[in-house]
Amino acid sequence: MSYLSGSEAPKREDRLKSCIAWGGTLHSACNTFCGNGGGCAAGGDREFSQGSICLMLPGISMINTLKDNVNLLHGAVGCGVCSHSQNANARSGGLAHYGRVKDALWVSTALNESEVINGGEGKLRAAIIEVDRLYRPRTITVVSGCVPGLIGDDVDGIVNQVQGEVSARLIPVHCEGFKTKIWATAYDAVYHGLGRTLLDDPEIREPVIPDDEERFRFEEQKKRTVNLLNVSSMGKLDEDELTRLLAMLGLEVNIFPVFADTQAMYKVKYAGFSISTCPTHDDYFCKFLEQEYGIPYILKHMPIGIENTNQWIRDAARFPGKEEAAERIIKNENARLDKALKPYREFFRGKRVFVSAGEFRALATANLLHELGFEIAGLRSFHHDEFAAGEYEKLKKTAGDFPFNIANVQPFEEANLLKRSKPDLFLGHWNGNSTSAKLGIPSHVIYNTGLSYIGYRGAFEIARRLYRQLRNPAFNEHLRRYVNLPYREEWYREDPFKYIKGGADV
Ligand code: SF4
Repeated sequence: MSYLSGSEAPKREDRLKSCIAWGGTLHSACNTFCGNGGGCAAGGDREFSQGSICLMLPGISMINTLKDNVNLLHGAVGCGVCSHSQNANARSGGLAHYGRVKDALWVSTALNESEVINGGEGKLRAAIIEVDRLYRPRTITVVSGCVPGLIGDDVDGIVNQVQGEVSARLIPVHCEGFKTKIWATAYDAVYHGLGRTLLDDPEIREPVIPDDEERFRFEEQKKRTVNLLNVSSMGKLDEDELTRLLAMLGLEVNIFPVFADTQAMYKVKYAGFSISTCPTHDDYFCKFLEQEYGIPYILKHMPIGIENTNQWIRDAARFPGKEEAAERIIKNENARLDKALKPYREFFRGKRVFVSAGEFRALATANLLHELGFEIAGLRSFHHDEFAAGEYEKLKKTAGDFPFNIANVQPFEEANLLKRSKPDLFLGHWNGNSTSAKLGIPSHVIYNTGLSYIGYRGAFEIARRLYRQLRNPAFNEHLRRYVNLPYREEWYREDPFKYIKGGADV
């Protein structure tokens, strides 16, 4: 039975034995993780830990993209204010997807002391009705944070009671931050909410198919439709690149769920197969679609990197039986790319790069950078699940051995590792980039929805951007001279994995 029969998604610590703390090298990581079904050795936690984020942030970054939706946060006053910083993405993504700038629309019950003691259910009920009357949205996501989870508000019960009184479809999404340290649980939580409420809307009926000819057309259309799952692995440029490649295989793409139209989400049930852009993100929903609707899925490669993209296309081509076409596409695209990358490869050869991001993205990007001529100086991933075993193996074969760290950010470990490994370049998210930039290391963002990273186009665009940056690293050199990190010199002489409980393997 699918997890979606329950009111909320299980946390990844329980479902996947995921972990957030480990230190060693790539080879020792591979020996520990590969082939044991995932999970970290010895629990994987820290004696000392710096602040991190909760699952609310990635959860609402997805929700804030939904068309005609109001996001109602049920929690304390500061819970979910990261919507402010995410608004630029909602606006630029809205423009790219629908041709109009759209602000993320979000409100909060902002629970006060009295409601923490007496319960927030009454306030939630009133807020849902007010939002429905005021904005007339198609859907209202009711995202619950820590406080309602702690005081025992029955969020699903309130949603069920109020649903008959409002015109918007209500979608409960559980993001109680205290329940999990693995923020990737957010992807499961949002898929859970959408899968439970928006696929069987009573207003949306299965197509009425009166005769055999129409049924045949419907089945053919279904066979050539592919669900391209994107919870936040790529922006519009990357979506366009994968749509281009899949179209060459004769496939039509249904992109789900970011920037999707909530009224059209039911279409996800009418596809020949689903393909993931990031297995760490998508396993929960892929498995649900297969169990409930018999839709097979591919959850294997992330199309970042040339060989990864080749493999991703080969996998996709097997469903429509277009294996020969896939080989032709790969041959042509690789030949053009090889020629275009030649000057960049010469420039990058021997330069050392440190990579930090979510597990699959970090490993796949390291593969791409190795293909471009870089040596890998070190790698960090935010957490570890079972899905990336193949990526560890790929890197182990090609890129040698280097320091490897699993850390839910923890910049003090990162600073220590960067001081030791002295890379020429750092690729990470904004949190890691600020650490490396202050150490004088040219730093490039590993994910930005306005830039291209995926497929053959992504490989070229990354090379072009890195070339430009490495040609003139003066900015970071100046930054290092005038800005300090907050750590004492003694820390840099310590083992970077000193505070990892039983998880370090050096
Ligand atoms: S869910 Fe909890 S941890 Fe996350 S922002 Fe809200 S109160 Fe803070």
